[in-house]
Amino acid sequence: MRLTFLGTGTSHGVPAIGCDCTVCRSENPRNRRTRSSLYVQSETGTAVLVDVTPEFRIQAIATELRRVDAVVLTHAHADHIMGIDDLRRINEIQNGPVPIHGSPETLAVVRRAFAYAFEPGPPGPTCPALELCPWDGNGSAIEVGDLRVVPLPCQHGPFSIHGFLFEEGPRRAAYFPDCNGLPDTTLRELHDLDVMILDGLRPQPHPTHFSLSESLEMLARIGARRSFITHICHLLEHEATQAALPEGCFVPWDGCVLVLP
Ligand SMILES: [Zn+2]
Ligand SMILES: [Zn+2]
Ligand SMILES: [Zn+2]
Repeated sequence: MRLTFLGTGTSHGVPAIGCDCTVCRSENPRNRRTRSSLYVQSETGTAVLVDVTPEFRIQAIATELRRVDAVVLTHAHADHIMGIDDLRRINEIQNGPVPIHGSPETLAVVRRAFAYAFEPGPPGPTCPALELCPWDGNGSAIEVGDLRVVPLPCQHGPFSIHGFLFEEGPRRAAYFPDCNGLPDTTLRELHDLDVMILDGLRPQPHPTHFSLSESLEMLARIGARRSFITHICHLLEHEATQAALPEGCFVPWDGCVLVLP
């Protein structure tokens, strides 16, 4: 399994528009974060894209991404779905629609936000071809080639949304980019993980995201072999944050690749 962090930033991205703080003004490329998204590939090349951010095109070009067997959506906030129109290039490359898996609530928002893609008429290059695949209930796995993807509920402020467990043979990785609470039913599934990636927005508490210390506490409880924070805002400088993390915990950057042999 191969995991690529396409983006690691919060909904504003880093730098934030009009901000002169030292992180937003930093010349270190690791302090430049597009909106959070993960690209998961199996040994044989099966590819799952988690969320389609407003910067999907830029992320795809930067990482030479050219295959998407399925999209899975955590939720329908704008920073996670607004790149869907750019799946048109994947339609062209693969000569077919892209399956998009999500909860019925999430896919209802996609259908509304990209209404033109679902109107009758001949398909063409100006309209993405999307196949909406709502999942029923929680915990039923989606099989995509040789990858098994399990949607698992999490709290995101007042919303119950989803993160994902990815399995390929004995390899296990989980991704929860927008989250400030994990129910026991989800925690029970997050064992024997090679990699756990969790929301760790900023030092201060937030109503819909784990703070850094809350995230580290949860990551310690889950006890994956390697732990990563994501959905990071401009209040966390890359190098200083990494230097302060406990052993086995890491701050990723855009384009960072993890290989699980
Ligand atoms: Zn978000
Ligand atoms: Zn800033
Ligand atoms: Zn969100």
